[in-house]
Amino acid sequence: MKIYNTMTRKKEDFVPIRENKVGIYVCGPTVYDYIHMGNARPMIVFDTLRRYLMYKGYDVNYVSNFTDVDDKIIKRAMEEGVPSVEISERYIEEVKKDMKALNVMEATTHPKATEEIPDMIDMIKVLIEKGHAYEVNGTVYFRTRSFPGYGKLSKKNIDDLEAGHRDIKVAGEEEKEDFLDFVLWKPKKEGEPSWESPWGEGRPGWHLECSVMSKKYIGDIIDIHAGGEDLIFPHHENEIAQSEAANDVEFARYWMHNGFLKIDGEKMSKSLGNFFTIRDIGKKYPLQVIRFFILSAHYRSPLNFADTLVESSKSSLERILNAMSKLKDAMDYAEEKEVSAKEKELLEKIEEYVTKYEAAMEDDLNTADAISVIFEMVKFANSSISSANAKIVVERMYAVIGKLCDILGIITETETEILDSEIEALIQERQAARKAKNFARADEIRDVLAGQGIILEDTREGVKWKRA
Ligand code: AMP
Ligand code: ZN
Repeated sequence: MKIYNTMTRKKEDFVPIRENKVGIYVCGPTVYDYIHMGNARPMIVFDTLRRYLMYKGYDVNYVSNFTDVDDKIIKRAMEEGVPSVEISERYIEEVKKDMKALNVMEATTHPKATEEIPDMIDMIKVLIEKGHAYEVNGTVYFRTRSFPGYGKLSKKNIDDLEAGHRDIKVAGEEEKEDFLDFVLWKPKKEGEPSWESPWGEGRPGWHLECSVMSKKYIGDIIDIHAGGEDLIFPHHENEIAQSEAANDVEFARYWMHNGFLKIDGEKMSKSLGNFFTIRDIGKKYPLQVIRFFILSAHYRSPLNFADTLVESSKSSLERILNAMSKLKDAMDYAEEKEVSAKEKELLEKIEEYVTKYEAAMEDDLNTADAISVIFEMVKFANSSISSANAKIVVERMYAVIGKLCDILGIITETETEILDSEIEALIQERQAARKAKNFARADEIRDVLAGQGIILEDTREGVKWKRA
């Protein structure tokens, strides 16, 4: 497989450090609120990478952290007048719910920063011993100039950075030896969560968390380090400096960064206020549609969010699901008979599609092209496969489309995924039953839908529904 490595700015052949094993670290969210669609992009993209590597037979160790101590969490806790941990625990639960609804697999390990403090203190001690860090008044800084490779990922020149910073004075940071130095440990402020350390009570800096948690759960060298492109500088640059200075080995072999999800040409972000939470968008569309929409673009390209585009993803996905449902019916009626010469060609054609799909995924996870291959298959299935074929041919077609969708995290089993159109039809039938005072039937329909995880809500504007 070829992976575009941000470090070399080239597509490179992916070769894991240990045969058949892959260690992936993906920087996770800061848990102070619901996640938005932009935050969901790396989750979906790198979950798909993981699923593809698993399909290829790799044993994947997937680690993604929760940043559960941070200024934003503390601010929110103060606003609500509750302890910080209440905010972080609440939103870890909510993020997990959203991830599940997006069919993002649980990580092998989801470490929380607050549970790894002793290891963070140990890494800081090592950095101080080696002359890469120093303490002033309870704050420990990383001595950026002591790490010769600084800037290698973001391709920034350290002297340019220095020049850019020279006139900007940040309050409280005059104590630093150099403007470029960044915080590893900060002292406690009143009302903030804190831990004991050799430098007094305090809490770790954000960049340090990932260096420590990736080392602990994957090792000194990780195969793939991933996140959104806004993390390249300074976050990932600083992680490299800390880890390589402490461990004396290359930190990550491949660096993958997803492009931004945009809205009206601007990055979707909390601070700009131009965001849709996954929770809200889930009321409008099944989240499977959102996952499909996100994967319809190459992960490194910017992706513009627009209702029209999501609508079109919705109908594309329905086309796949309808084809699968037709195949399923055909499978029930097809006979177990000898495969004809013509059908052998059909089977070969199916395998050709698999090869084409894999080629797309092998090319730096080109999910956009992989989805096009699925569409070609759907077209082919609709026109060439029916219950008149030998059962084994229909079964193969059904299994292959199902598998290729599954790698993208798209569920095609019609038994578990009731279509929107079917839900709407049942709701109409229920309305008619109520009008005819056939309440038993109306209740029965409600129960059928509930069994499919569909919740109905009777409102003044009519019946609304959502997936649980
Ligand atoms: P944050 O909680 O802001 O640190 O973001 C968590 C993850 O979401 C990081 O990997 C970010 O790079 C990513 N991210 C945030 N906003 C966007 C966006 N609009 N498009 C793509 N990725 C984003
Ligand atoms: Zn990180």
